[in-house]
Amino acid sequence: MKYYDKLIFELSKPGRIGFSLPECETGANIPAKLRRESELVLPEVSEPDVVRHYTNLSQMNFGVDTGFYPLGSCTMKYNPKINEEIASLDGFRALHPLQPEQTTKGAREVIASLEKALAAITGMKRFTFLPCAGAHGELTGLMLMREYHMKRGDSARRKVIVPDSAHGTNPASAAVCGLDIVVVKSKENGLVDVEALKPLLGPEIAGIMMTNPNTLGLFEREIAQIAELVHGCGGLLYYDGANMNPLLGTVRPGDMGFDIMHLNLHKTFSTPHGGGGPGSGPVGVNDKLAELIDIPKVSGFHGNFGIMLRAYAYILMLGKENIALAGKLATLNANYIKESLKDCYKLPIDSICKHEFVFDGLAEPNGVTTLDVAKRLLDYGYHAPTIYFPLLFHQTIMIEPTETESKETIDGFIEVMRKIAQEALQDPELLHRAPVSTPIGRPDETTAARQPIVKCEC
Ligand SMILES: *Cc1c(COP(=O)(O)O)cnc(C)c1O
Repeated sequence: MKYYDKLIFELSKPGRIGFSLPECETGANIPAKLRRESELVLPEVSEPDVVRHYTNLSQMNFGVDTGFYPLGSCTMKYNPKINEEIASLDGFRALHPLQPEQTTKGAREVIASLEKALAAITGMKRFTFLPCAGAHGELTGLMLMREYHMKRGDSARRKVIVPDSAHGTNPASAAVCGLDIVVVKSKENGLVDVEALKPLLGPEIAGIMMTNPNTLGLFEREIAQIAELVHGCGGLLYYDGANMNPLLGTVRPGDMGFDIMHLNLHKTFSTPHGGGGPGSGPVGVNDKLAELIDIPKVSGFHGNFGIMLRAYAYILMLGKENIALAGKLATLNANYIKESLKDCYKLPIDSICKHEFVFDGLAEPNGVTTLDVAKRLLDYGYHAPTIYFPLLFHQTIMIEPTETESKETIDGFIEVMRKIAQEALQDPELLHRAPVSTPIGRPDETTAARQPIVKCEC
């Protein structure tokens, strides 16, 4: 058992103290009815015990600063440290949303400049920064879609078309917004089936939600025709821009015909995410909806300003030329991994991908599942890719390397993935048992997420 496998309460020794306060000379003036009746149960530990305990715990974490993190769809992009420095400048950090307007001009200028930059990158006209996550942005965007139709007296439009490859948040957001979901299926090649879309269109359609490149990392080449068809029936096009990485500086959703979109600043624009921390999912709209942009008040004040600062710093740091390079390198890296591994992992759609792609398990599984592969990667010090999503295949492994990784890092990952494919043939038991080197191996993830035990009962 490692020292830090214990809870801080289990390290407690009666009478041990880390810090002592002077006697209170004035006497605490707390009314009797507010005073606790029993002793406060706190761990009795020394200062080094506390420091080591929490430092060791912090080192059990895995992040993009500790290793390669190829989590498809989630774009675990490296967070440049200059973003953090800028967000921690006193003039920004010490702001309060209720301070007088004339003292917050700089902050408001940052928001306006970021809006301009995002409008230029996406081809949208206006943005709202109130949404605090991608899914929050989807809900906001759909509220705008509803508002647009209602304003025109078109209240029968209550259905939203969502491709079967969509991120789970798309149908969830539509449902939360009170809209009905109509699924359009994909073809063998992973792209939306335009012929299957046609009969779904009509006077009840509010719009379609699309991700492009879609969650398989494939560019929807027929997007212009899809836009024409959906607009033709009076619907709007919603763009899920959570993963706009490969298009940055090259292709704009506005030019593809999209009317409303969200971005995940905490993916594409390099701000930190994970663990439900602060995010930002700004929503952009084109001319048609520009005047409605401020209607949905989905959070207080201006949204997560610290995240906006980081995104703005990132955009300024890269500039116009380099931001396009980010998308191109992310695409190159994904294709390089795909081509290097497609002899030992099953590639269901063999075509050029954008920033990510999916395998459908091992080419020769030998009883080894995608979960086994993902668990074994942890033993080699890598974060696992996204698994079992999207739902189009049974053993999906979704890999997204991002642009900042060196060829050496990517080659190291490829080597380990090949080694695991070998192990599957030689010693499948080893893979069923993996991971063998982490503090916890295979928790019941559903129960751990739904009924977490976060309180010590000792
Ligand atoms: C991550 C993601 C979302 C949701 O973003 P959150 O910030 O997690 O709410 C939506 N769509 C796609 C394609 C995503 O990758």
